[in-house]
Amino acid sequence: MMQWIMAGFLGWLGGSVVNYLSDILPHKRRLVGPICLACGERQPWWNYLVWPRRCASCEAHRSIRIWIVEIIFIGASLWLWTSPPGGLGYWVGMTLLLYFGVVVVIDVEHRLILHPVSWAGALLGLGVGIWMHGLAPTLIGGAAGFGLMLALHSFGNLFARGMARLRGEPIDEVALGFGDVNLSGVLGLLLGWPGIVGGLLLAILLGGVVSLFYLLIMLIRRRYQVFTAIPYGPFLVASAILLLYFQESLLSITF
Ligand SMILES: [Zn+2]
Repeated sequence: MMQWIMAGFLGWLGGSVVNYLSDILPHKRRLVGPICLACGERQPWWNYLVWPRRCASCEAHRSIRIWIVEIIFIGASLWLWTSPPGGLGYWVGMTLLLYFGVVVVIDVEHRLILHPVSWAGALLGLGVGIWMHGLAPTLIGGAAGFGLMLALHSFGNLFARGMARLRGEPIDEVALGFGDVNLSGVLGLLLGWPGIVGGLLLAILLGGVVSLFYLLIMLIRRRYQVFTAIPYGPFLVASAILLLYFQESLLSITF
């Protein structure tokens, strides 16, 4: 019983950290004390991290995301505690999920993968990668992830520029941002070589399937626009989570 409460508490704490970083980093780009996103007023730490309450000065409610993240992290913590996935263990598994959580929340809310988050991810990826695969596969994986995505990114830019010229109007959004290139480098470190190749393919597949569904829904609702950019970070992360945490289950389904 005590173990369950402990795991739930750690999950709650992890969710709070993800919420705090996702709130602060896109606005301040550095670690300052918690602030209210509506009025900018400083908030006490305990008010922010321990229990998400309304802002004392402007009474703004916290966003629903706060609760979604908390619930997901409590669930993830309990799951990792009872059945840590092959080779990762509880603490490494949780630490990686914190990083993934921050990347996904900021990318979905701001279409942005911040450089400081990528640098932290690179350090984490280097450490975990070497621990899991050894030095050479980790470095080659990182270079491959970064390089392959950089090629796609350049190709996408060329394509966007070509389309803009054809249509005679400037394009302000690119499909793949440079943040996705950095993220792929981090995932390359984590998945190693040749794991990153499967990781990128799976991400493209997931992104394609979801885009297709999205497109169909938009077509049905007659809201279709050409080149609606969707953030690619969540698909890269989903692919990495599947490969890192569920590889055994995936393999047992395939074979
Ligand atoms: Zn406020």
